[in-house]
Amino acid sequence: MKRRRKISSGDPLVDWLFVRIAQILNRKGTNITLVRSLTETNCGRRRTIYGVVEYGEDPYKNDILINGTHAMNRRPEGRGITLLHEAIHILMRTVQEPRVLNLEPLLWERLSPAQRRFIIFYVPRHFTDQR
Ligand SMILES: [Zn+2]
Repeated sequence: MKRRRKISSGDPLVDWLFVRIAQILNRKGTNITLVRSLTETNCGRRRTIYGVVEYGEDPYKNDILINGTHAMNRRPEGRGITLLHEAIHILMRTVQEPRVLNLEPLLWERLSPAQRRFIIFYVPRHFTDQR
């Protein structure tokens, strides 16, 4: 019988990535907030985005903002996927957006239900209004 309860997907590579993501979410310097609106200006166009990382000068201090009103983020699972996406950015800082977008569903699909719940648990229940 195992003494230590480990949340495993059964795939060592997935578990390795999950532990790195969990460390980022657990870290004191990671500040996660749920906001009502989030936009970005790209090529002069303003568009709504579902999440973003504001990188700190210190690589261990980063703010993750989740747009809780975005269609993708109405349900807890969507917010969890967004949080996973932003945590992948922190983990793989030099990897560009399209590749993070490729990795995010591949990893989410392979996580165990307990691993997904763990990530969803880190999404704040309430909105922060100051932004
Ligand atoms: Zn992204």
